[in-house]
Parts: sequence; C-alpha cells; structure tokens
Amino acid sequence: MVISFTLSACGQNRNVNQSSLKMNTSKPENPYYSHTDTTKLNLTDAEWKKVLPKELYEVSRHAATERPFTGTYWNAFVKGTYYCAACGNELFRSEAKFASTCGWPSFFEQDNPKSTIFRQDTSLSMERTEVLCGRCGGHLGHIFDDGPAPTGKRYCMNSIALDFVPDNK
Ligand SMILES: [Zn+2]
Repeated sequence: MVISFTLSACGQNRNVNQSSLKMNTSKPENPYYSHTDTTKLNLTDAEWKKVLPKELYEVSRHAATERPFTGTYWNAFVKGTYYCAACGNELFRSEAKFASTCGWPSFFEQDNPKSTIFRQDTSLSMERTEVLCGRCGGHLGHIFDDGPAPTGKRYCMNSIALDFVPDNK
C-alpha cells in the first residue's frame, strides 16, 4: 500500500494505477480480504491469527489501541476510500475525515449503513461505544458525540485497522 500510494502521488500513468489498485483489492496471505464481497465473516480467533499481521490482529481481534500520533492516517488528507484492513469492507470516504487533535484518524460519518456496527464498551471503567467492522466484526475504534456538523459524531479509529486506497485521477 505504501508503494502504490507513492506511485500515484508521483502522478504515474494509468497502467501503474491499475496495477496498484489490483494489488490493494486482495491480499494473498488473507483469503477473506475483498473490496467487493460483502458476505459476513464469522471466523475463529485462531483463523484470524493465521491471516492477519500481528499488530493488526491485536487491534482487530483484541481491541488493542495504537498510540496516538503514531498511525499512518491520523494526519493524512488525501482523497480516497478507507477499507477495513482485516477484511476489505468499505468503511469511510476521505470527505468524511476531519482534522482532529486526538492523534487518531477521525471521521464524522461512515460510508454506508453496513460499514460499521456499534457495541457498548465498559472496559477501563469507561462508558464508551465501540465501533466494529460491519463485515468481519473486527475492532476499529470508538465513536464519540463531539464531532463536527452535520452528524456531530467522531469515529475515532486506529490507523492500523484501516486500508487506504487513493482515488485514481
Ligand atoms: Zn472488516
């Protein structure tokens, strides 16, 4: 993904963009990853552990949180689409991303009704609403009521749980 981003940022030709797009829409090591298949996934923890990189596995399956200001996307504002890094489900458009001071990528609305689901989270003695991927149920982050108009919501996400594909120009 880093490679494809660099290439498209350098204004490479259409062929390069197409091949980078292909590279991003499937992952050889993860047969469940797809940008087009919306079938819900119900895998065991052991199955996820086999196909996800360790850091992503810890966030997605065990709700770990990356340190603020360390992720790839908290301060990124390129036009494109954000997908679930575990399964490829479409989560957010860059138009819904806003500059937040929290150090994690923040969005005011999800891409479509199936993008995410919510669950009450009372861990760490806090009342929070956890945001999970609508397709694979993987942990993405939390949602808060201090976001900007029009929704007033702030989807506070872990960069590592997101895959970003820039728009082809
Ligand atoms: Zn997912």
